[in-house]
Amino acid sequence: MPETLTIIVPCYNEEEMLETSAEVFSKIIQTLMIGKQISTSSKVLFVDDGSTDDTWNIIKRLEQESPVFSGIKFSRNFGHQNALLAGMKTAVDFSDLMVTIDCDLQDDPQKIIEMVALSKQGNDIVYGIRSRRKTDSMFKRMTANAFYSIMKKMGTELKPNHADFRLMSKRAVRALLEYHEENLFLRGVVPMLGFKSAEVFYEREPRIHGQSKYPLKKMLALAINGITSMTDFPLKLILAAGIMAFSVSSVGLIGTGIAAIFSSVKVSSVLILSMWLIGGILLCSMGVLGIYLYKALLETRHRPLYLIEVDDYTDFFQKKQNDRFNLLKRA
Ligand code: UDP
Ligand code: MG
Repeated sequence: MPETLTIIVPCYNEEEMLETSAEVFSKIIQTLMIGKQISTSSKVLFVDDGSTDDTWNIIKRLEQESPVFSGIKFSRNFGHQNALLAGMKTAVDFSDLMVTIDCDLQDDPQKIIEMVALSKQGNDIVYGIRSRRKTDSMFKRMTANAFYSIMKKMGTELKPNHADFRLMSKRAVRALLEYHEENLFLRGVVPMLGFKSAEVFYEREPRIHGQSKYPLKKMLALAINGITSMTDFPLKLILAAGIMAFSVSSVGLIGTGIAAIFSSVKVSSVLILSMWLIGGILLCSMGVLGIYLYKALLETRHRPLYLIEVDDYTDFFQKKQNDRFNLLKRA
């Protein structure tokens, strides 16, 4: 029997984009169904991440139009990463293959067909890699490249130019869900899972409708979260800075002491400067320590990562199971 595919699409205020995207995704599902590559229960699952515009109404309308569309709705905005996670967690019980892709068609949806083919060759994870980022702004490209190289220096191998466009098999998603971390940084954790993987390459297109829902503030938050959840390198950096400051200042102190014996040294200026230096180092260190400490607090608190208000996807499959059960009972 062919495998069931679920295309998971996080949506945050995507009323301008949604219908165009829905049509593209459903065509892909149809093509794969006709080719008997995937089962007829395959679906497009929209995760409405607490949109404040017409997004959820459009999803409901799409559900009416075709059983291929399904949606879950968060009670408020929980962020892109949590929307992806919720999609996978919801879909994993009823699907064999899951693809995550943004709603804005910037990542080439046609590549999903290639991804499915590669999964049939035994790959549990297929990464979508942007071969060129020509359409991204210079700023976005530069910050992204800096991020990859910093992460690499700190010992975390991210897939360069891979965002969250990827296919995962049921067992890969199950493995991912074993990572019970708050603040799961998918791009860092997925390559840690192992399993056989493959890559598909595509060119990133510009957004057709609407605006980026990732302003600099969210991008920075994602980067800081990525670093602090994957590596303790910043902590080591603090330690190194501390040792440096300690040795330099002790040598300086001894030097000043010796100089003071033979001549008069103006101590006040040196004193003030060194106070600022130490103060700066201490403040930075406390900041970084604070981030890790706060993360530890988050882990122990076990707050839910997201709250689902409506889940039409699970309802659909449960109803289907019940219908089958009732039919069997009658037979
Ligand atoms: N998104 C989301 N929650 C958010 C922000 C974004 O679900 O809080 C979704 C958004 O609807 C889109 C995807 O995440 O489908 C990527 O966002 P966007 O295209 O704005 O990011 P960019 O491509 O500019 O990095
Ligand atoms: Mg985008």
